[in-house]
Amino acid sequence: MGDRFRLHPLARAWLDAEDLDRMPAVAATGSSWDAFVVDKMCLDGVVDVGGVMVDRALFAQRWACVPDRCAPRPGRGRWRSCCADAVVGLTAAEKERLARHGAAVERIGGCRVQLDASGAFVAQVEDRCAFARIDGAGAIRCALRRVAADLHLDRSLLQPIACRVFPLVLFALGPETVVVTVLNRRNHRRLGACAPTRYPCLADATLPLLCEAMAADLDWLFGAGFAAALRRRARRSR
Ligand code: SF4
Repeated sequence: MGDRFRLHPLARAWLDAEDLDRMPAVAATGSSWDAFVVDKMCLDGVVDVGGVMVDRALFAQRWACVPDRCAPRPGRGRWRSCCADAVVGLTAAEKERLARHGAAVERIGGCRVQLDASGAFVAQVEDRCAFARIDGAGAIRCALRRVAADLHLDRSLLQPIACRVFPLVLFALGPETVVVTVLNRRNHRRLGACAPTRYPCLADATLPLLCEAMAADLDWLFGAGFAAALRRRARRSR
């Protein structure tokens, strides 16, 4: 019997949280998604990779974080950025973790933990997420990554899970099963997200395959070896 993979407990708690006003691009909900998954399954569009239901669209998707191309600035043109143009919903647990490390976020990251007026989303400041910084080279960077690294914390104890999984989309099919797909031209409207052609990280055919570029996060999400299992399955599907 091959490897079995399970969603990381932090990600499972995030996906199951009832208080999350979801960032539409990453956590799918609702009956239209049930229909999407059933359609996919009937058309053999979803395959089982060690207990995780994977949309075949993931196999061919190209992706890499290219923060020098999407930062808000004159001349950015049509490009959009997850850190500037998507609003990030937080669970109560995520808010509590951010509040607990608020002093370190200020000291190391140079920004305050700020929520929007509803208290459900990370605040937007100067047309971008309150934790987004533009570095000396004009690239947009997440201050929370640096804070987590300095504190030797699992990144997801500070950075919202929604940010870590972008551009993946997770869908809970019952208490045990997770379907994972990727923001693409067939589902972006259903997600209420910009078309993938607006994100430079998704629109460039010369970028590496997502299952290679995102291997560390895929392994964090589903357990060590998941990214390799995905690549093997992708090769068999060609
Ligand atoms: S929390 Fe970090 S990764 Fe998430 S949108 Fe803000 S800057 Fe980007």
